[in-house]
Amino acid sequence: MQLFSIFGDPVSHSRSPLMHNSVFKNLNYKACYTRTHLLEGEKLKETFFALKLSGANVTVPHKEAAFNACDEVRGFAQKVGVVNTLINENGKLIGYNTDADGFMFSIEEFKNIKKVLIIGAGGTAKALAQRFLEESLDVNVLNRSAGRLEFFNEIGCNTFTWEDFQVQQFDLVVNTTSAGLSDNNLPAPQKMIENILENTCYVADAIYGKLTPFLQLAKQKQLPHKDGADMLLGQGVLANELFTNYQLKKEDIKEQMEKSFLY
Ligand code: NDP
Repeated sequence: MQLFSIFGDPVSHSRSPLMHNSVFKNLNYKACYTRTHLLEGEKLKETFFALKLSGANVTVPHKEAAFNACDEVRGFAQKVGVVNTLINENGKLIGYNTDADGFMFSIEEFKNIKKVLIIGAGGTAKALAQRFLEESLDVNVLNRSAGRLEFFNEIGCNTFTWEDFQVQQFDLVVNTTSAGLSDNNLPAPQKMIENILENTCYVADAIYGKLTPFLQLAKQKQLPHKDGADMLLGQGVLANELFTNYQLKKEDIKEQMEKSFLY
């Protein structure tokens, strides 16, 4: 029996155990998926091996620590320095990132996106920004503090803090901050958010399972909006393929994960 887990702080909100266990149980794959509340990112690697895990997901705020913990990082995760999926490959910790592809899957219904505003500058923002640039989009990043913006400047985004941001017309605005996850905060001062929403076509939030104050405002303004549930599904399907070493069919994994959302 293989064991998998999700690491995060907070982690009790995570639907990943439900999604992955639904796949394992209904497709007869001998594995179980649990959750681990991890306070210190530096302890990720030792905890992973102490629990004898075959693989794991990593959520807020440890995705950059997960990158540093890996013996080897593969694919897109190398470009962004952010890892959300870990595999135990013969005692070595291998890191991947499935968030960006998961998000692209989730916004397929939003058409003609050319100019994007990402709010937040953490691990999720890095993955999305890099991926948007690869799609030749005009990428703008707004964060409350300047410290984390350097990465985004270097890869070719326009960056702003709350102090120097001036609203422009955007096709899509995405909240990648954890504001609204376990509090009722907006990701920037209310006036600024109202102004942004009045000048955008589509709105997305990486947070799932609740209508965040940010999405509540988007709804009030009758803007097309969506939470992070489809992103979660998209990244989860890709992570499960890695966990099961491509032994299960992608459509079957997706179907079981979608069903788990109904529980
Ligand atoms: P990080 O901890 O790496 O980054 C958090 C970012 O949020 C930082 O830029 C931080 O700003 C900002 N922030 C935190 N609190 C506030 C606040 N009150 N007001 C304004 N800005 C704030 O987190 P992750 O990138 O790993 O995750 C971010 C969110 O995305 C989480 O809510 C997570 O659950 C969600 N997520 C959802 C996924 C899905 O599948 N649906 C997948 C991945 C993430 P500063 O730099 O100033 O500290």
